[in-house]
This record gives sequence, C-alpha cells and structure tokens, in this order.
Amino acid sequence: MAGLYLHIPFCKSKCAYCNFFSVVSERQRSDFLEALKKEAVARKDYLGGDEVRTVYFGGGTPSLLMPSEIKEILDVLRQNYKIIDNPEITLEANPDTVSKESLLEYKSVGVNRLSVGIQSFFDDDLQYLSRKHDSKHARQVLEWSQEVGFQEVTMDLIYGIPTLTDEKWQKNLEIFFSTGINHLSAYALTVEEKTALGQRIRKGAAAPVDEEATIRHYEILTQQAESHGFEHYEISNFARPGHYSRHNTIYWKGEKYLGLGPSAHSFDGVSRQWNVAGVKDYCDNYSFEREELTPDDRYNEYIMTSLRTMWGVDADYLRESFGEKYAKRFKKSSEKYILSGKMFQKGEKYILNSTGMLFADGIASELFNC
Ligand code: SF4
Repeated sequence: MAGLYLHIPFCKSKCAYCNFFSVVSERQRSDFLEALKKEAVARKDYLGGDEVRTVYFGGGTPSLLMPSEIKEILDVLRQNYKIIDNPEITLEANPDTVSKESLLEYKSVGVNRLSVGIQSFFDDDLQYLSRKHDSKHARQVLEWSQEVGFQEVTMDLIYGIPTLTDEKWQKNLEIFFSTGINHLSAYALTVEEKTALGQRIRKGAAAPVDEEATIRHYEILTQQAESHGFEHYEISNFARPGHYSRHNTIYWKGEKYLGLGPSAHSFDGVSRQWNVAGVKDYCDNYSFEREELTPDDRYNEYIMTSLRTMWGVDADYLRESFGEKYAKRFKKSSEKYILSGKMFQKGEKYILNSTGMLFADGIASELFNC
C-alpha cells in the first residue's frame, strides 16, 4: 500500500512564520497544472505497481484550485495508478479561500477529508501569524464542512504563540472539542531564522516565543485530548480511535509514497527523492535529487519517526529488518529512558509517553546508529 502527495505551491500571501515552499503569484497556474499531470504520468511506475490508498493535496494552499481542477488531477491519477476503491482523499483548505458551495463541489469530485488551517480562534493570534482569515470565518468554515457532509475533518491549531495565553489556548481547545470533529493537528510555533517572523523577532518588532509557555500549552493539550477520548497517536496529532490520518501514517510507518509537484519528496523503500523547488524550474525543466539510503540511514529514520508515534519502536521489526545487533543495541540504549519515566515497554514495543514525546527528537538522536 502506498500514498500520493501533490504539492500545490500557490498561496494568497505569505504567512510570517511559514517555511514551506509556496509562491504568491499564480501567473504560472496553468503551466503548473499541465506539468503536474505530466509528472503524474511520467512517474506512474515509481511505486512499483503498489496499490494507492491515499491521495493528499497539500501546499501551499490547495483550496486555491477550483474543484474542476482537482477533478482533472484525480482523473489522471485514477488512469495511471492502482487506486483502491475507498481511498482517503484529503484537501488542505484555508478558511479565506472556500465557500459552502466550493466545499460541496470538492466533495462531489471525490475529496472525502478536509484539513482546515484554523491555527487559532483569536484574531490577535491570527494577526501575529499574519494569517488572512479571522476567527469568525474559521468557525463558519467548520460549520460548512459539517453541513455539506464531510465525515472526516481535521483542523490545525498552533500553540506557543506569544499572544496566546494559557486561558486562550484552553478556549481554543474547548471550541475544537465542541465541534465534534474527530482529528486535531496541533503544532508548537517554531520560528525559522529566514522567515519574516524570524526577522521581526530579531529586530525586536515582534515578541519572541516563550519556551516555558509552549511546554505548558503542550501539557494542557495532552490532558484535554485525553479527557475527551482522543488518542495522542503522533507527537502533533490527536484523533478519536480509528480516525487517524491514513496518509500521514504512511510517512510515520515508513511505507512508500510518491510526491508530485515542486519541492515534493518521495520514498520508494530504499531511496529518497525530492523535486526541484521553484514553479518555473518545475514547469520548464523538471529535475530532482536522489539519495540512496544506507541501512544506518533507514534505521535512524525508523527510530526518529516511530518514537514520535503511539506505536513506538518495534524491536522485532529491528531484528528482522536490520539484524540482532541493532535490536540489542537499541534495547540497551533505551533503558535509561524507561528508568526516567519517559518511555515504557509493551512486549517488544518501546513507546514514549506524552512527556517523552516532547523530547522525541533529542531521544531519537541519542539512539541513532551513526
Ligand atoms: S497558507 Fe500555509 S503554505 Fe501558505 S504561506 Fe501560509 S502557512 Fe505557508
């Protein structure tokens, strides 16, 4: 089983904290759509004939594409890939780019999961992030998505924003849990140097992130999620049982995926490949870079992604895939995290608890084989 990711690189404007590849000019929109379909046909053998169970339109802002354009892309995918009967088809949507009518149309062309970039229900937080929508519109879009009958909806929220007090964060979560939506992605605000926000903070024109507040928000989040029956199934992802993102789970479980579009990444089980970033370069002169993964690379990636999930690291899998030596070394190195209460063991599975997940990247790098 495998997944398809499509990177739609257009945005109405650039959010101050954004580090994704996106452009605000849509001048090359039709060239891009042609190039994307061409790439989909040209790379149809990349997944080795595996069945495709998920299609994910990410970006950028995929909801800037019209439903008819999404349909044309899906038609090309259906003609060239073995897509299963009931695939998960996700569209990322920004509140300022959709209407009730367009949501209905996306649904009618096959989109069955909506990922809405809410970030906060407070206007001052949205202004800090320089998002284009306001809180009223955010609530409206969630209502529409339910009224038009999307069964699977997920929402993005950001915590650790300097304008976000503990009370406001609590309120954001209360609003989320009152919607009846089954999935939440909640990210800590991270500020990259090169972003507009990074520069504003450096010049003293914007408040910096308070690490202690971010940790408090994370603790509030994990407590609230648990009390509402949500599983903390990945460091930034929470769902009612059975409502996990099928697409992102492909990444976290190390399965194959093909990424189409500028800057999109692909993984075929033994190598990683990433497309040129730049809409013009992508359209005029498609190219990519490729890296063959050594057993150590694959081991390290498995440790990194698995520790971020509630499924944890499976020592049996380590033994089968990498050999007894790797499994033994992992088990020995994990002991200190079990003793310190950040990790627990369930049979041959080694799993970080919510506190441990907060340190997942640091713990993973100490467990790397390098
Ligand atoms: S809408 Fe998303 S991809 Fe576009 S600039 Fe904002 S954060 Fe980045």
